[in-house]
Amino acid sequence: MGKKYSRSTGDRDKLRHMAVSVSLLASGSRGNCALVASSTTRILVDAGISGRETFKRLRALGERPDQISAIVITHEHSDHVSGLQRLASKLNVPVFLTAPTHAAWNKAWRDEEGKIPELPKPEHFSPGRSFQIGDIAVMPFTIPHDAADPVGFTFRAEGVKIAFTTDLGYMPASVRDHLRGCDVLVQRVIVVLVAAGKRPGFVSTGVLLRAVHGYRLSL
Ligand SMILES: [Zn+2]
Repeated sequence: MGKKYSRSTGDRDKLRHMAVSVSLLASGSRGNCALVASSTTRILVDAGISGRETFKRLRALGERPDQISAIVITHEHSDHVSGLQRLASKLNVPVFLTAPTHAAWNKAWRDEEGKIPELPKPEHFSPGRSFQIGDIAVMPFTIPHDAADPVGFTFRAEGVKIAFTTDLGYMPASVRDHLRGCDVLVQRVIVVLVAAGKRPGFVSTGVLLRAVHGYRLSL
């Protein structure tokens, strides 16, 4: 195996080479939230648990919430956005989402006063067009799922490629193309795609890690 992985509490010698990491804060129908981090940039992927719980779980991983650079959203289902408004306004960071997802969120969600919720810094992206957040290159791509404009993401930084395909109904060829060459796949668990040709979509060729929140993989 080319990549090393360990718990975040692993020894310092290993951690020295581990600039890029992915951490699961929550995963599953009760809420989804993950952190992708390089040495200079930290991105939250989805905001499906409360702001308070997100902060708590970030701190448990040794992360400072004020170092979050941005939030990216896969789709508007509540298990991916229930903490979004609060997190976005507390952190005052850009929220990247597609225009149809933003519209669907506006339609479905109301703030505590019953008003249409607002994001302090919305940034719209289009599936298939990459964008940059700090030193992390983000590529959103369409996935099959029953939502307004659902996407998966790949994140590239420091020679590592991490893919997210949460809520993927099945694996069409278009998605598989985006996953090609990725080191890690996050669906509801983290899968490390190892030697067997890094074949995304074939979970059996990867090492299935933990399904529980609070798990960090460093690369
Ligand atoms: Zn969904």
